[in-house]
Amino acid sequence: MSEEKSLNFLEEIIEKDLAEGKYQSITTRFPPEPNGYLHIGHAKSICLNFGLTQKFGGKTNLRFDDTNPVTEETEYVDSIKEDIQWLGFNWANELYASDYFDTLYEFAVTLINKNLAYVDDSTSEEIAQQKGTPTTPGIRNKFSERTVEENLKLFIEMREGKYADGEKVLRAKIDMSSPNMHMRDPIIYRIKHAAHHRTGNKWCIYPMYDFAHGQSDSIENITHSICTLEFIPHRELYNWLIQQLEIFPSKQYEFARLNMTYTVMSKRKLLQLVNEKHVIAWDDPRMPTISGMRRRGYGATALRDFCDKIGVAKRENLIDIGLLEFCVREELNKTALRRMVVFNPLKITITNFGKEVEWVSIEDNPEDENTTHRKVPFSKEIYIEQEDFLENPPKKFFRLFPGGKVRLKGAYIIECNEVVKDINGNIIELKCSYIPESKSGNDTSGIHVKGTLHWVSVAHAVHAEVKLYDRLFHVENVAEAEGDFKEHINPNSLQVLDKVYAEPALLDTNSNNRYQFLRKGYFCLDKDSSSEKLVFNRTVTLKDTWAKEVKK
Ligand code: ATP
Ligand code: MG
Repeated sequence: MSEEKSLNFLEEIIEKDLAEGKYQSITTRFPPEPNGYLHIGHAKSICLNFGLTQKFGGKTNLRFDDTNPVTEETEYVDSIKEDIQWLGFNWANELYASDYFDTLYEFAVTLINKNLAYVDDSTSEEIAQQKGTPTTPGIRNKFSERTVEENLKLFIEMREGKYADGEKVLRAKIDMSSPNMHMRDPIIYRIKHAAHHRTGNKWCIYPMYDFAHGQSDSIENITHSICTLEFIPHRELYNWLIQQLEIFPSKQYEFARLNMTYTVMSKRKLLQLVNEKHVIAWDDPRMPTISGMRRRGYGATALRDFCDKIGVAKRENLIDIGLLEFCVREELNKTALRRMVVFNPLKITITNFGKEVEWVSIEDNPEDENTTHRKVPFSKEIYIEQEDFLENPPKKFFRLFPGGKVRLKGAYIIECNEVVKDINGNIIELKCSYIPESKSGNDTSGIHVKGTLHWVSVAHAVHAEVKLYDRLFHVENVAEAEGDFKEHINPNSLQVLDKVYAEPALLDTNSNNRYQFLRKGYFCLDKDSSSEKLVFNRTVTLKDTWAKEVKK
């Protein structure tokens, strides 16, 4: 973090709270619901919550907000932990809201005893109807008049499983005419006969989000409970519950959620993409999930850098996905090993090359002053890219054409002497000559050429598969586009090239390596790769091929 950078509004609040001695140290939490994999929006929240305690001292808990038994799974818990650790953060405690079910139950009993909660037999439709509208007050029904004893008895029976799902709920008794709809006797417990991923069949009543969340914060002595803007209307209830229960006064602060162009940022929608097979899995490299980005080759440093760059806003906005790609490129440019891979081969025979092979030495990363080098085989037959040759070139075409000269990266200058065609007139081969005095690093030829091409020796070429990814959606603002979001899926978001030709150094690869395929983009090994078949994902193109330029 650069020192001159001004504090964001949360940092200002914390700095003040600490200066005034309101807290000795701060505690934050990251509270995911384990109902899906984490996405880049969650990364923002993780960097924020963990970043604050890194900066000001204190601790950050990981709390699984697992109060809904139906949608939650252990697979999600495991993936969430893996993603946070991969991002580079360590939680102080791994906690589960479900561990507080006993305490939360006692809190509910406390409210009943204070005559601040009642059991309601109304249907959900009746409850909704009695709630009124933002401009008209709601009405209290007869169940709200139940005595403390009656409510206690019914609530115990609810817990004992005497009633079916939906037959009764427990509501907080607050204010049916409050301008804040969340204060109009909100439901705090419901009946749900469902097994929970941690508590099994112990419970058949579960606390509602508003009742569990703030109370869990208090149980953990969370000082600054940070959530997204849609929870602003919940804050009044958050404070009311803490006050009535006389528990640790956690405070809720809201910031704008991250929205990004050309993608969706909701677990519910991402789950649909997975279930309906628009993508292969949660970690499909096109997904905005942390696991998808990791598989695609994005670095944790780039993700953290991105979250830092976008800052902490108090108003909703839409961040250009190009900014994320900019951060990814910036990291990869410094770290990626350069390699040569030909996607669409055109064979060249170098007629005057007499040796069987010459191993030329090429740097792994010219951006690194301590770069290592690798040996690349140069031989009589090589491949260049089809698009790097034109029989009738336009002006300023600095690649190869009949009679033209180019440099082969790290090797020699060649001249094209003859174009060989099949009977249909398709170009199948070029005959070239090389200039022995023009070797890279020791060029005494005095010849200057403008173009440098990547190439691969035919005899030494390693076959590989390459997956090229594009935007998952073809509209910028998917959430606000008309119709179902799936109508805007980009049908060409994945292009598979099942046979490309790679220099042999790529045989010696592992999943941690990041590559720049010269003139092609940044790539990494996919997890589907095997020793029989190398599979590479394109992480990002070399330059932003999209219209908008991302300014630093
Ligand atoms: P989704 O709508 O994708 O399911 P969620 O908010 O329901 O997201 P949770 O598991 O409840 O997902 O979120 C855990 C934490 O991450 C919460 O504190 C939430 O505010 C934060 N979070 C979720 N999405 C974003 C986002 N797009 N930007 C910033 N923070 C987010
Ligand atoms: Mg949620």
